Amino acid sequence: MGKVGWIDSHAHLAYSEYDQDLPLIIARAQERNVSRIMIVALSEEETRKAFRLNDEFGMFDVAFGYHPSDLDKIPQGGFETLENMLREGKLRAIGEIGLDYYWHKDNKEEQKEVFIRQIALANRYQVPIIVHMRDASQDTLEILKKHRPVKGGIMHCYSGSVEMAYEYIKCGMYISLGGPVTFKNAHIPKDVAKAVDIERLLIETDCPYLTPHPFRGKRNEPAMVELVGLEIARLREIESDLFMERVYENYSRLFEISL
Ligand SMILES: [Zn+2]
Repeated sequence: MGKVGWIDSHAHLAYSEYDQDLPLIIARAQERNVSRIMIVALSEEETRKAFRLNDEFGMFDVAFGYHPSDLDKIPQGGFETLENMLREGKLRAIGEIGLDYYWHKDNKEEQKEVFIRQIALANRYQVPIIVHMRDASQDTLEILKKHRPVKGGIMHCYSGSVEMAYEYIKCGMYISLGGPVTFKNAHIPKDVAKAVDIERLLIETDCPYLTPHPFRGKRNEPAMVELVGLEIARLREIESDLFMERVYENYSRLFEISL
């Protein structure tokens, strides 16, 4: 899979706000020793763009799924499009998918249905899932228990408790932490960073959102995943290079990428 380096397991680099300076963003990421980036695409259009970017830069994996906040944007035939891409073997994962009761409380049943449908697709095509969860930890857990993702997956930008993290791990999930773990008062993500088995940890930016300290307020980008990694290594009292290697191994194991 290439050289060991930091992994950004969740980046929205197909967003148009990166159109102007993507080569610079890639250069800065490489300068900070980022060796692989998962582009998470939320539409067919973004997915095709992500494929093109990978042809150009060659350091990306691509995930695509219907986000719980975008259910009204799923086009006619949208699930067939997703399935065709899976059949072609071009997607590393389905995501981000899941439940968001913070922004949307009025369509919980529909959110669950779309989530379950996409887990079934992931299982049919033997790929992991990337889960977005906000204010819906119990329902998410129940679905993962009942509709277990056979290839596992990632709880992306995990903001839940240590206890719940253990429950998701039992369902085959990895716990990915992002910028919030670097925030001074973010006690829960820091506790999670210390408590979770190192074999189950991943890191991400979720860029352009959730920029780590001390760059909060600026646009986020993959180079900043290093700040997340350094903070977790500090919290766990291990060498940052060792943590970098462990994350790299975890990512390779989850996505069955040979080292
Ligand atoms: Zn995201």
